[in-house]
Amino acid sequence: SVVDPLLSVARLESGHGKIRVLHGIDLHVSAGEVVALLGPNGAGKTTLLRALSGLLPVNSGDVRFGGRDIANATPRQTAREGLVHVIEGHRVFTQLSVTDNLLLAAYDLPRGERAARVEQALSLFPEIAEKRHERGGALSGGQQQMLTVAQGLVRRPRLLMLDEPSAGLSPVLVDRVLDVIARLRGDGTAVLLVEQLLEKALAVADRVYALVQGHIVLEAATGEADLPHRLERAYLGGE
Ligand code: ATP
Repeated sequence: SVVDPLLSVARLESGHGKIRVLHGIDLHVSAGEVVALLGPNGAGKTTLLRALSGLLPVNSGDVRFGGRDIANATPRQTAREGLVHVIEGHRVFTQLSVTDNLLLAAYDLPRGERAARVEQALSLFPEIAEKRHERGGALSGGQQQMLTVAQGLVRRPRLLMLDEPSAGLSPVLVDRVLDVIARLRGDGTAVLLVEQLLEKALAVADRVYALVQGHIVLEAATGEADLPHRLERAYLGGE
């Protein structure tokens, strides 16, 4: 129905080999919603994104995306469904131009659409658009990281998952990325982001989840009163 969330996760368990990291995650993201996944180091945030995109096994539980069961789908399958995961620490091709890096991300899209997709992604990132003909390696580290976000956007995701997009970025580029996220919401694209900068996360997100030791311990709309304080207590095991 129209009210079904785009992504819905129930009782998800996942981890690394025999090490169980996630202990029954319930979470949902609706179309056009920006959701921040918060929590201390080692809580399992990256593990959760990787399980959702198919980079790690789902040991049990349900993952539905656009009404389809995607638990244990491959990363290629989830990406084709429109769930695009911008992986932390992903490297761009330093010898290829910025434009060619973006075209590569569009390799399996209809030929006639690729150039327009690349132009649209570049239009969101003036800092890299002005270096479009330069090699990826000529960009700063922060600009290369933004290029990986642009590579995700070339695919026009229904849900974009970002793992600490602000890490290592200058303040100007952090604001650029947050601005792009806000614009995506306006276009109906959903975003699930892991973010360490609490203030920035609360400013851009509609809702937050706090993940502590593999459990969701708090879910709240960002407009709710006293949220920073409640999050602090949740991190410390008080909620
Ligand atoms: P951070 O903010 O530090 O990245 P996180 O919330 O994203 O933290 P994860 O990276 O998902 O947390 O890690 C969750 C747990 O899984 C940690 O205990 C971590 O040591 C463990 N872990 C992560 N990657 C692996 C791996 N490849 N093999 C085994 N254990 C791992």
